[in-house]
This record gives sequence, C-alpha cells and structure tokens, in this order.
Amino acid sequence: MYLVEHFYSIQGEGRYTGTPSLFIRLGGCNMKCEGFGCSETAPDGVEVQGCDTVYAVNKEHFSQNWIPITKSSELLNILDLYELPRHVDIVLTGGEPLIYANDEIFIEFLNTLHENGHRICFETNGSLGVDFQKYPVYKECIFALSVKLSNSNEPLKKRVNGDIIYSLATNSKEAFFKFSIDAESITLGLEEEINDILIHSPLTQVYCMPVGGSKQEVEKNTEPLIEFCKAKGYNFSDRLHIRIWDQNKGV
Ligand code: SF4
Repeated sequence: MYLVEHFYSIQGEGRYTGTPSLFIRLGGCNMKCEGFGCSETAPDGVEVQGCDTVYAVNKEHFSQNWIPITKSSELLNILDLYELPRHVDIVLTGGEPLIYANDEIFIEFLNTLHENGHRICFETNGSLGVDFQKYPVYKECIFALSVKLSNSNEPLKKRVNGDIIYSLATNSKEAFFKFSIDAESITLGLEEEINDILIHSPLTQVYCMPVGGSKQEVEKNTEPLIEFCKAKGYNFSDRLHIRIWDQNKGV
C-alpha cells in the first residue's frame, strides 16, 4: 500500500460538501483518465497526462514521492498529527482506494476507524468490487461513486461494471453517484451515457460536478452544468476546494 498525502480540510464535493474531513490519499489507480486533460511534471522531469490527481495515479513517475505502508498503525498514526474533533469524517481517496480493498492492513485500519466511531467515506471510480461478506466493515462505509464517463477516455468495459455498481450501492451504508462533467460533453449525448450507468442503481442520487484541475476550468464548466442539472433534476456539486484553493494541493 502507498500513502500519497493526508490533510484535514472540508469536503469539497458531493453530498457532504462542507463537512470537516480528514483526507487520506492512497497511491495507484486502475485507470488513467487522460481525457480530463490535466498534466503535471513528475519528480523525474516527465510531463504526465491524466486527471487532477495524476500525482496519486501514475506509479511509474510519481511513486518516489509515495510512502509505503506496512502496518495499519502507520495509517492510524496520521490521526494523531491533527487536532481532530472526535468521530471526524475520514475520506479515503486516491488514485483509487479500492485497489487495496482486500489488503489486510487496510481492512484492519477500516475496522479500527469504524470501532472508534468515524464515518468512513470512499471516493471511488466504482469499477472495483469489495467483498461485503468477508469484510463487513464495508457495509458501514459511504461510497461516492464517481463512475467515469466517456470524457475520461477510458474504455466503457473498464469504467462501467453494472454488477459492481449495484453491489456497492446496495450493500453499503450509503452511496451516491458523482460525475465530473465538462461543458462540451453536455451537448454530446451525455444524458444517455449517464442513464446507462444509473440503470444499474436507479434509486441512487446523482451529483454532477464541473471538470477541472484549476479554478478557471471549474468556473468555465459551472454554468452550463448548472443548466444541465436543472433540466435533468440532478444535484449540482461544486468543487469547493478548487474554487477556494485553486491548484494548491493538500488543502
Ligand atoms: S479513476 Fe479517478 S483517480 Fe483514477 S485516473 Fe480516473 S479520475 Fe484519476
């Protein structure tokens, strides 16, 4: 397991926007999402394309900055570094945190968080399943299902798995969809694409947020997206952290 960064902030996206949360960002992802058009210079000088968290996705070029985790206590010790309110929300993000879904160190960490009364929220692309029977702690977790759309440039088969979406949505404590949408995609059959995902869990609420790794990009996509949400009855979700702190990390 790799830890990329941790920070205490407010949740900037989705249903719990504004909630004080400790973010733990794990390294690695099963996708690349180069369609999101963000890029970042890696420590080795290579310019890497991907999503706004490409530094937590691309192991080849960024892992020299990642911290290997060998014991659950190394993750639990993060909580002692902050003056946190009791039971504060813990957000597990990445990259894709569910690449570690069967890792015993990770399960131990989740069990301890749950026993200590924390609400555990996963930010996931919804393409990797978890074993709810073997690891019942997942039944106590919240899943923000950020299922990728075609604007990610990932193949459909890889980004949408109906059985996994259904399983995460129905076995967890709570789940909601969270889509990243740019102004251009709204005109290009986006509604149909979203419907093809929602069909796997029609009662799960939808939050749409503007694509962008910078304040300028987020703002450019915001108004068209609000109009789209109004027309379709979806919830608009801001990306508060980008609007406030722009491209700064760890906030
Ligand atoms: S799935 Fe998420 S973390 Fe992984 S590359 Fe795509 S946007 Fe980035």
